[in-house]
Formats: sequence, structure tokens, C-alpha cells
Amino acid sequence: MASIRLHPRLFPLASLASFALSVAIALPAGAQTAPSRQVPGVYHQLIGELHVTALFDGVVPLARAELSGIDEAGKQALLSSRHVPEGPQGLQTAVNAYLIQRGDVLTLVDAGTARCFGPGLGHVLENLRHAGYSPEQVDQVLITHAHPDHLCGLLDAQGREAFPNATVWLARADADYWLDPATETRADTPAMFRPLFKMARDAVAPYRAAGRLRLFAQDERLPAGVSGLDSRGHTPGHTSFLFDAGAGQSLLVWGDIVHYHAVQFARPDASFEADLDRGQAIASRRALMARTADGGWWLAGAHLPFPGLGHVRRDDDAFAWVPAEFSPLPGER
Ligand SMILES: [Zn+2]
Repeated sequence: MASIRLHPRLFPLASLASFALSVAIALPAGAQTAPSRQVPGVYHQLIGELHVTALFDGVVPLARAELSGIDEAGKQALLSSRHVPEGPQGLQTAVNAYLIQRGDVLTLVDAGTARCFGPGLGHVLENLRHAGYSPEQVDQVLITHAHPDHLCGLLDAQGREAFPNATVWLARADADYWLDPATETRADTPAMFRPLFKMARDAVAPYRAAGRLRLFAQDERLPAGVSGLDSRGHTPGHTSFLFDAGAGQSLLVWGDIVHYHAVQFARPDASFEADLDRGQAIASRRALMARTADGGWWLAGAHLPFPGLGHVRRDDDAFAWVPAEFSPLPGER
């Protein structure tokens, strides 16, 4: 073990002696091995009467080249100033889901990738258990849109319903597009999207067979205390969910409004390649950022750095992301 030098003014002798003693007790004899696993991907946040738990699914690389609508110099300046981890495949991008408890009712927003994006992701279910919940307790799953990183996690490792008592809510406009085999083969369907259709159909199939897939129109009422905000653009029926937390507080779980957090808050007009309707996606992004900032709402973002909880503030004519601070829960010692 390396020797530790401590500043004498910060560590008087008495406390230094007890510090040395505690180190000696804590470490076993022999070589110290470094931890090889990260802590569980779970984070709790109390918001009004809601107990919100962020559930980490994993990270996916997004290429710089898939970000358009911004000149190269501007893109590079924003990315290098934010120090986003980057590998050969692209920029590290988190995949998060959110479990919201109100009283005895458990609502999951999005379900992660399960097996659809390979072995590095698909951890929502195990992290839900790490958080002290069981999947059988989940009453409803609200899906922001029918992409695999949001709904493949409706199935467990055996391909069965991961949430056997839950009703799944999906916007009818997304179901019309992603669950219809005819769309898959349509001439105007981009080639990059073709593998996604079967994933979407498979993920909802057991819920649909059991009569627990609810397709909603944009103006339809959702489960108690939740409003669906039309945020189409990334997909035709993309919906963000606004939770009334009581006491004047609100939480917006916005789905895929932002994929490149280092760029798109400062430049909401920059688009992700996979946005089906880029103009509409830009309009939805600007509108939701403005409402979130002006309303002082809490925000949860599927692709913001885990836990992806925080606020949005206005910054000149654009916006900035304000991550939440790690906080103990009330009563915790
Ligand atoms: Zn996504």
C-alpha cells in the first residue's frame, strides 16, 4: 500500500493517529485489489409526495457523426469543454429508466434494453431489485416511445413478461407506426430502423395477449396524477410524462428529448440522426426545455448522465442542464 502524506494543519496528530488505526483495521493483510464492479445503478430522489428511483440500464456509444444541424467547430468546442467519456464507437450515453412510487402505486417509466443492445446493457430489472422493489409490484409501465432501449425491458431474460401485474401504456401514434408490420417494409422507412420493428412487437406481445397493453391518444387521461405531453419528433408518438408531485412540485420524465447532453442544451437545434422528424424534434425539445425551466420542474432524462435527475435553466437564448446533488434520504444517518 502506498504511504499517505497528510497536511498537518488539516489533520492534527490525535485525529491522524485514530485515522491510521481505522485504516489498519479496515484493510485485510496482504495485497489490496482494486474493486472491479461499480456500485449498483440505483439513485433515490424524494420530490414532494413522490419517491423517485433512477434505474441504470447501461451505456451506449453514440457517434459524433450522428449529430447534425451544428457546424463542426461548434460541435467540437461543446464536446471538448464537457469532457464526455468517449471510446472508439462514440460518446458514452446513459440509458436510464425511472420508478415512481406514490403511496402504494408503482409506475415505471421506460424499461431499458433487456437483451436488445447486447450484454453491456439490460440492467434495469436487477437494479430495480437492488433498490428493494420486486417487478411483480409494478402497477403500470409508461413507455415514452417504442424504441428498443425503452421497451425491450418489458421482457425478462427468458422472454416472458418482466412485469406480470403491470398495464403497459404506449401512445397510439407510436403503436400505429412501430407495431404495424406494414410500416417495416414501406419504401420511406429508413433502413437503420428496420431491425427495430420486430423488437417492438415482441416486447409488447405478451401484454397485448393478456389485455394489458393500453394505447392512448394524446389527449387521453393517463393513470392518476400523470399527464402525457405530446413531444413527437424523435418518433411519431413520443410522449413525455408530467407527474404532479403535490405541494406545487412537478417531475417531467421526458424520454428522448436529448441524446447529446453536452451539445443539445446549448444548441437545441442540433439533431440526432435517429430523430424521425428532425424539425418536429427540435420544436419539441425547445418547447419542453422552456416549460421545464420556467416551471422549475424536476427533470428525469433517459439519456442524461446517470441518474439523469435535475433541472433545466435558461442560458441566454438556449438552456443548460443542472444535475441534482447527491442527497441522503430524510431520517438517514
Ligand atoms: Zn432512447
